[in-house]
Amino acid sequence: MHDPPPATVVDALGWATEQLDAGGVPGPRREALDLWSVVTAVDPVVALARPSAPVPQAQWQHFKAAVDRRVEGEPLAYAVGRASFRTLELKVNRSVLIPRPETEGLVQAVLDWSQARSRAGTVADIGTGSGCIALSLAAEGAFDRIIATDVSEEAVSIATRNMALLRLTRNVEFRLGDLLSPLRLEVFDVIVSNPPYVTAEEFTRLDPAVRDFEPRAALVSGQKGMWHTSQLLQRAGSHLTPGGLIALEIDARRARDALHLAVQAGWDSPHIERDVFGRDRYLLARNPLTRTPGRSAR
Ligand code: GLN
Repeated sequence: MHDPPPATVVDALGWATEQLDAGGVPGPRREALDLWSVVTAVDPVVALARPSAPVPQAQWQHFKAAVDRRVEGEPLAYAVGRASFRTLELKVNRSVLIPRPETEGLVQAVLDWSQARSRAGTVADIGTGSGCIALSLAAEGAFDRIIATDVSEEAVSIATRNMALLRLTRNVEFRLGDLLSPLRLEVFDVIVSNPPYVTAEEFTRLDPAVRDFEPRAALVSGQKGMWHTSQLLQRAGSHLTPGGLIALEIDARRARDALHLAVQAGWDSPHIERDVFGRDRYLLARNPLTRTPGRSAR
């Protein structure tokens, strides 16, 4: 324990490395540096170039708190309250899932689809959490309108705060409510979602950093991990324009089940795409151009 606080950056990093190592955090040196650079907003290369720079008291307090939380097993993003996603820096806390690199690919799939059209149109992100998907689409896309929903009040509040902090030129309208219900009778060109898709049993075997800290409601989708995916495939068609896109993140282990559900629900050209790790991760399909009224009963 350091009391008084360490005088220099190198002292602070040394202290943190020891704490993290004793706490069983893998790669303690790297972790210490990562925590330091997020807390101080200084690039690791710059921090290392000035090892004998003094450590201001407030910075030390913040750093120490983050190191203590990491030692308790809390993921780095929660320990520092921040995560990066595509071009964005987002606020996160334990009421929202930490944005994953595979979800960056889901955003890319939507951007690619919209860029191939003459008009990007409108998009709804279902179960937005930190707002990572919707806010990235606002930052990088050219959509006329972006709506994002979440059933968690805390999530809507964090996502709204993230939007305010990012000062984007395009707004996202956040709405509280279950799955598609906040969309009311509105119709969109794209519906995108990273819904919960882990089974109740798989959840018990997840990495403790995920299982013990991230919101269960954002991960588990019933006994079979497919409840939300199935709901979306059955009901999203009535909220999409003819030819509109549905883009869902899925679990590679259930890619075939998801594809089968999409075919059964009457989607046009459903197919699976792989994530950056080579795993089947996205289900993409189009709303049929002609559809009999009452398709929501599919
Ligand atoms: N890919 C996430 C995980 O492994 C699951 C995300 C989700 O259920 N949407 O923790």
